[in-house]
Order: sequence, then structure tokens, then C-alpha cells
Amino acid sequence: MSNVPVAVVTGSNKGIGLAIVRALCKQFPGDVYLTCRDPGRGQAALELLQQEGLRPLFHQLDIDDLQSIRALREFLKEKYGGLNVLVNNAGIAFKVQDTTPFAVQAEVTLKTNFFGTRNVCTELLPLMKPYGRVVNVSSMVSSSALRGCSQELQQKFRSDAITEEELVQLMTKFVEDTKKNIHEKEGWPNTAYGVSKIGVTVLSRIQARLLDEQRKGEHILLNACCPGWVRTDMAGPKATKSPEEGAETPVYLALLPSSADAPHGQFVSDKTVRAW
Ligand code: NAP
Repeated sequence: MSNVPVAVVTGSNKGIGLAIVRALCKQFPGDVYLTCRDPGRGQAALELLQQEGLRPLFHQLDIDDLQSIRALREFLKEKYGGLNVLVNNAGIAFKVQDTTPFAVQAEVTLKTNFFGTRNVCTELLPLMKPYGRVVNVSSMVSSSALRGCSQELQQKFRSDAITEEELVQLMTKFVEDTKKNIHEKEGWPNTAYGVSKIGVTVLSRIQARLLDEQRKGEHILLNACCPGWVRTDMAGPKATKSPEEGAETPVYLALLPSSADAPHGQFVSDKTVRAW
């Protein structure tokens, strides 16, 4: 078994994820895994970074596929005996002009952004080694979507006592409400992406609390963040930040020094803790 520290970035064949891998290859003292769902796209990204003189490693990972997540888990357990850095970056967003029915957009978006990310956490967080760092890439849109929720929902999502099961029930309810076209009446904002990212931010707050309760002496720090508005296939060419600039906050959180005890359980953008 290797004693080398190991970092994994999900959805890192392009965009912000690729820029995070590039930065970690330069700054993280260990093995960095570029992961993506399509091995062909992964290989192309790997070669791109190799041409820059970097040495990322590759493992397939489709966060929608539990078998794929578990295969990565077993690989990490066997080869490294755990994991030091996990960046949950993979995500999807329908384009504004997309005419796919809203209920379908809600189901598909929540499936990857919330349920897929949660499944990765469920399988990989038990592997985190002491002083491990977990970064869940959410979005500022989670904050604006939160403000668009009913007072009752806002209270639930801001609660320090909400459980993961309650959050899963709420995310499931959103998808069901969109199918019945009653989501607005039920207090939800009209954004599937926004609700999925509320899920990611709240999940991060819950997971950080659980780490405090169950693994206090292990000094693991877990945060959600927004990369900013970044020029990628998702956000388009008019966005203000380059992928490298978008990677800065996730990389800062992934590389928090072992002496740090904060931030933890926070929502961070531009390396600054934001109110939730
Ligand atoms: P992007 O260029 O579209 O890249 C998204 C990445 O996620 C791709 O590698 C994609 O893989 C991967 N992915 C999607 N579904 C996946 C799955 N089921 N399993 C594994 N990988 C999957 O988008 P981006 O702008 O870099 O976004 C990265 C993260 O930042 C996302 O979580 C996004 O919500 C968040 N974010 C972005 C912005 C922005 O302005 N760009 C702002 C706030 C937050 P494929 O190539 O196979 O599709």
C-alpha cells in the first residue's frame, strides 16, 4: 500500500475541474487523480496536462453510477488505504433556452448535482484520512435560490439541526412537486440548478457537523464553495473568470494547512466565508 497522499477531483476532464487538477498537480505533495465519466475524454485531458509537464493520474468516475463510485472507493482503499483530498466538482446545468420540461430538468439536475454528489460523499468520506480536506463545489446561485424559497423552507435549510435524511426528503419533494407543477405553491424557487446547489451547500453543513460529532480528533475540514462566474462550457464565454481563477477558491480549501481549524462547514467564495 502506498503512503503517498492522494487527491481526487470529480468531473475534471474540462472546465473548473481540469483547472483544479492542474493547480493541484503543481501544489499538492502527492498523487492527483483526474476523474471523469468518459475514459476517452479523460485520456485527452490527461494528455493535455502531460504536455504541460504535469503528471496527473486517471480513474473513471461517473457520479450518477453507484458501481463506478464504489469501484473508485475500493481502488483508493487498496492502493492508498484512504484519501487525503476530495473535490466534488462534477455538475450539470441546463441552458436557459433549453426547452426540456421543467420537471425533467429538475429530476436530471438533482440526480447529478445533489444525489450524485451525496453518493460520492457517502462512499468516500469514510475513507478520509486525518487532516483530510473535502471541497463541495456549490454556487452563489444556492444563496439566491435560498432567498427565493418560502420562509418555512429557508428556516429548514438554515437550520443547524437538519439531518441528511430530512435534506434528502426535501430534495425528493422538490422533484415530485415539479412533476405535479405545484413547486411554486409549495414554496420552491423556479430554478432546478439553484435548488440542487442549495442541496450541496446544506449537505456540506450537515457533513461538517457530523465530522465534528463523530471524528473530532481527525482535523478533517469540509466546506462548500462558489468558484465565481467562470468561462466554461457550462457558463459560456461571457463569464468574468478564467477556469484557473475559478479554481482558486476550491484549491485554497483543498490545501488548507494542517495547522488550520477553519473554515469548516462554511460556504466560501473568493476565499471568504459567506453568510448562509
Ligand atoms: P463544465 O465545464 O460543464 O464541466 C462539468 C464537469 O462535470 C465535466 O467534466 C462533466 O463531464 C462533469 N460531469 C457532469 N456530470 C457528471 C457525472 N455524472 N459524473 C462525472 N462527471 C460529471 O462546468 P464547470 O463550469 O467547469 O462546472 C464545474 C462545477 O462548478 C459544477 O459543479 C458547477 O455547477 C460549478 N459552478 C460553475 C460556475 C461557472 O460559472 N462555470 C459557477 C458556479 C458553480 P462531461 O464532460 O463528461 O460532461
